Order: sequence, then structure tokens, then C-alpha cells
Amino acid sequence: MDHFLYRNGVLHAEDVPVTEIAAAVGTPFYLYSTATLLRHFALFDEALAGTDHLVCYAMKAASNQAILRTLAQAGAGMDVVSMGEYLRARAAGVPGERIVFSGVGKTGDEIRTALQGGIRQFNVESEPEMEVLNAVALSLGKVAPITIRVNPDVDAKTHTKIATGKSENKFGIPIARARAVYAMAGAMRGLDVIGIDVHIGSQLTDLAPFEAAYTKVAELTEQLRADGHDIRRLDLGGGLGIPYERSNSAPPLPLDYGALIKRTLAHLGCEIEIEPGRLIAGNAGIMVSKVIYLKSGEGRDFLIIDGAMNDLIRPAMYDAHHDIVPVIEPAAGTEQQPYDIVGPVCESGDTFARQRDMPPLAAGDLIAFRGAGAYGAVMASEYNTRPLIPEVLVNGDQFAVIRPRPTFDEMINRDTIPEWL
Ligand SMILES: *Cc1c(COP(=O)(O)O)cnc(C)c1O
Repeated sequence: MDHFLYRNGVLHAEDVPVTEIAAAVGTPFYLYSTATLLRHFALFDEALAGTDHLVCYAMKAASNQAILRTLAQAGAGMDVVSMGEYLRARAAGVPGERIVFSGVGKTGDEIRTALQGGIRQFNVESEPEMEVLNAVALSLGKVAPITIRVNPDVDAKTHTKIATGKSENKFGIPIARARAVYAMAGAMRGLDVIGIDVHIGSQLTDLAPFEAAYTKVAELTEQLRADGHDIRRLDLGGGLGIPYERSNSAPPLPLDYGALIKRTLAHLGCEIEIEPGRLIAGNAGIMVSKVIYLKSGEGRDFLIIDGAMNDLIRPAMYDAHHDIVPVIEPAAGTEQQPYDIVGPVCESGDTFARQRDMPPLAAGDLIAFRGAGAYGAVMASEYNTRPLIPEVLVNGDQFAVIRPRPTFDEMINRDTIPEWL
């Protein structure tokens, strides 16, 4: 459930008509609901009730300061994957002891920044990273708390670009080598080996791969303890999918996911961390766009809209489906007709939907892309010198622009001309 519903024939975000925001901000823009963000965070938090746990929002999904602050004030930790994200989380008021640092290519600089600024743990992904982390920690006179990310070799059954738990993926160390690598880590004086980390992929719509992975993590925990490691924290990653297509999908609920975690791991008495991103932010955001032209082609009608692949790249990059709805609710019984919904960018990939049944639409009409809150704004670019579109946050009957649209001067003046020109 989210908080984007029709009321009196107009799509609302919580208590605010989307038309009102469009008039104030201009299209296209991203629009997030505070209530939905908080509800999704609470679903995970409640799903793990009764266990010692921390929900660390994977902020790469949507990392606006206002979103981070909303979640941090509700008690969320953050999962970061770069120095920029670490600094963003800190700027939003998240204390270091609630930030975990993931990622396969942390640089020495990133590690130093996090160690000096305060960090809950590093999720280490390779032996060379372990050595750099150890050296940096020793040089600072610190001990870095770490988990090691293991690759459990399970098939997450998701899009290949976001599957991360098979042995051919670049992530983590093969679980078969885990004991040897933990032994190495245990001997390093700059590291405190506190746990195990696993993250098998994103947009999982079935719990079975999680169960397979977590069962392996449970076995490994017991082996590592027998080897003398004080394993006391399990980071289980993110990845729970969301219903992008409401009509025909119902991914598992956080409550069932939490029950699975308890069933497979609670007996170990470890502190549990999870890192959901998509499920917290995805359905908490929509992208609102306007029809520029209705163009009739040979046997097809194109809706050319002012949003494009640079604003929301998921359809072009992952063949992703987004439900698209008109902001003005069609009258009951309105005939639908098929449209190709496309942006203005000069690439055929700039297509959001082909032959999508919609009520009749015309130039000037507003449409909303549902499920656009995660991996939307954060993956946007200025391709075609199109300004990054604004982000707006609703809270009850209030709304605020949380990232304004840059001016063309701001965009152009970021470039600098060498002196020989
Ligand atoms: C991307 C990522 C997540 C979040 O995945 P979602 O599918 O958005 O829940 C969590 N942990 C790690 C290490 C990731 O790379």
C-alpha cells in the first residue's frame, strides 16, 4: 500500500493534489510520500521485532537528504557504498555507529574517512580490501569492526544486472573459502571480526533464494565460531522486491521475510542487520510528467512526454515495467487505448512503455509513473543537457521541494574552458 490515491478525481500524494504540486514546481519531477517511507521502514522494523536488530536503509536507492533524515529520525541506520554516501548520511544526521559501509571497491581514502568519522562496520568484500583496511586502521591507531561478505552461490532469480549472489558475480568471497579468509582476518590486529554479511541481489520476488542463502550463513556461523571467531552480527543485505505491476504481482511481505530470518537464524543469538533499499523507497515515490505531443504513427499512437530516460532509466536499463496512471482519474467506463509512451531523447531506448493501455490522453495531460522512488532520481543524468528534475516531499497536507531544478546557467557554468581556447 502507498499514499498515492485518487480523491475527488485527482491523484493525491497523501493530502496534496498532484496537480497543485505540478503547477508550483513544473514537470517533470519526483514526488515522495513521507507516510509511505515511514510505513515501509516500520514494516521491516516490526518484522524483526523480538530480535536485536537494526534496519540499515540502502541509501543508494534514494539518497536525498530529506529522505535520509525522515528515515533516520524513525531510527533507521544506513547502508552506504561510497564516500559520498557516507558524507551524505552524516550530513543528514545519521551517527557513525548506525552506518555500515558496503561495496566491492572501497578505496583507502573512503576507508580512512569512515574510520575517522565513525562507522558501525565495514562489510569487506575481498582479501586485498582487508589488507588495505587493516593498514589504514593501524595507521590511525584504530581497530575496524568488520563482517566479511560471503557469496553463497545461490540464484536470486532476478534480472542479471542486479543478481549478486552467484559465484560468477564480482561480489563477496566464495563461501567455500570463507574459513580461510576469516582466519587471515582474525590474525590482523587492525580488524575486529564481528560477523558475516550476505546480499544476493535486488528485486527478489520469492523467498526461496533468501532461505537458501541464510541457511548457508547459519552453517557458516557455527563453523566460524568453532574456529574461534566471535561471530555476533549477521548482515543479511537487502533485495526484497516490490510490485511494479500491481495487476499481476505480489512479492513476499516484509513480515514473512522477517519470519524466515527468525526461522533460519534466530537460534544463533546474533544481532541482525538488514539493508532494504527498494522496498522502502520504491513505492514511496512517483515521477510526474506531462504529455508534450500526441503523435499518430503507422498503426500506433505515441505519447511524447517531457520525462525521459535520463530522468528515469529503469525501463531502458533493466527492461523495467512501471505502472503509468493519469493524474486526472478517468471517468468510470472510459475506453482504454494503446499508446507507446516515449521521451524526447534521441534514442529508441527512450521508451517507457509500448502499446500500454491508457485512457485517452492529449497534450498537456499529466501522468504519473508509479514505483519510481527507488533507483529513479539517483540514477538520473543530464544527458541531452536536460536538467536533473526536482524532488518534492509530501508530508500530510504539506509539500516541499527537496532538490530544486538547476538552472541552465548552473549546468553550463560547471564546465571550465582551458586557457588555450
Ligand atoms: C543494492 C544493495 C542493497 C539494497 O538492495 P535493494 O534491492 O534496494 O533492497 C543492500 N545491500 C547491498 C550491499 C546492496 O548493494
